[in-house]
Amino acid sequence: MPIDRLPRRDLLRLAGLGILSAGLTACSSSASMVTPPTLVPSTASPEPVVTDPNEALSRLREGNQRFVADKEGHPNSSPSRRTTVAAGQQPFATILGCVDSRVPPELIFDRGLGDLFVIRTAGHTLDRAVTGSIEFGAAELKIPLILVLGHERCGAVKATIELLEGSGEAPGDIAMLVEAITPAVEAAHARPGDLLDNAIEINVTRTIATLRTSSVLAELIAQGKAKIAGAVYDLDTGAVRFL
Ligand SMILES: [Zn+2]
Repeated sequence: MPIDRLPRRDLLRLAGLGILSAGLTACSSSASMVTPPTLVPSTASPEPVVTDPNEALSRLREGNQRFVADKEGHPNSSPSRRTTVAAGQQPFATILGCVDSRVPPELIFDRGLGDLFVIRTAGHTLDRAVTGSIEFGAAELKIPLILVLGHERCGAVKATIELLEGSGEAPGDIAMLVEAITPAVEAAHARPGDLLDNAIEINVTRTIATLRTSSVLAELIAQGKAKIAGAVYDLDTGAVRFL
């Protein structure tokens, strides 16, 4: 990895070790002294465009492994990448996730500019604007993978459980969120184990099932041009568990 592409954190560490100053007089040899973290994608040349849904899934898995291991490569974050994607985008995955501030897709999958087509609503609740955006990504931008991403201790699912157990009503349009998540909570009651964890996972699978009823997506899935997958993010470890 060229030294000017190293993450800032690594540059500071090298400066502290005196390696950076030595590198100013022997630039090529200094770069070879740095062992790049494993699994980091090459930044020497642009990555090929992904059209295979399973390859897109692999990229997400690998990026999350880097995030969990604190070995992020921060790919596609340079000014040159900004210039490249200013002319057009070809993201490889749509992420439908929750608005929760602790689950930012680009960070947890270690990706950069132009990589992910991100839609976030509380509890990844669908409405026509959300489904239309996902359809647009799949049909117009030819994004091969749609990932519905739930997460541990989701506040929207937890609030729905609490409202169903109590007698209160959700104000404003929060009621629409509760209404959408309620079937997942009801289904979770029939399962052994933790109610919230089960409701979160069922909410993901139900969202996927609803998306599959889209005629636009169904046709692309039938042609092998798109795939819908589900996953749950662990707030404590940073790991994404694919369902
Ligand atoms: Zn949430």
